[in-house]
Amino acid sequence: MERNLARLSVAADRVQADLRQTTSQPWTCSVDSDYVLSVTNGVVTERLQLESEVEDEDWFAPAEASTDELGAGLDADADELLATEVVEALRGLGVTWPICAQHRRVMGACGGWWYCEGEPYHDVAEVGSLPGQQVASST
Ligand SMILES: [Zn+2]
Repeated sequence: MERNLARLSVAADRVQADLRQTTSQPWTCSVDSDYVLSVTNGVVTERLQLESEVEDEDWFAPAEASTDELGAGLDADADELLATEVVEALRGLGVTWPICAQHRRVMGACGGWWYCEGEPYHDVAEVGSLPGQQVASST
């Protein structure tokens, strides 16, 4: 199943909101029509090619899903993809993000949520709703 570009753009906006909320820089995250993700703060830019197909279709878009379930599943796929790839792009720019303020560990993203492996493991926030006390560090 091909990923919907509008859905990916909305997910990019959510990750962008998290970035702006937690850093003092005007980051933008965008996806173009060739599935290229651009992450920039106006000074430096990193681009990554996104996979255009839903990779875990059985999980995010099962055949028996209702229309609503399918929409929610594809949103979760888009959020997880964008969150993971933006973290990767930032790493390429020497920025480690986002870091759990409590445990000082880099978070991961799964199914539309940021999580931290703790100890103990905890869900931090939905992608797009990251509290401002989380931090980024330049390496
Ligand atoms: Zn934590």
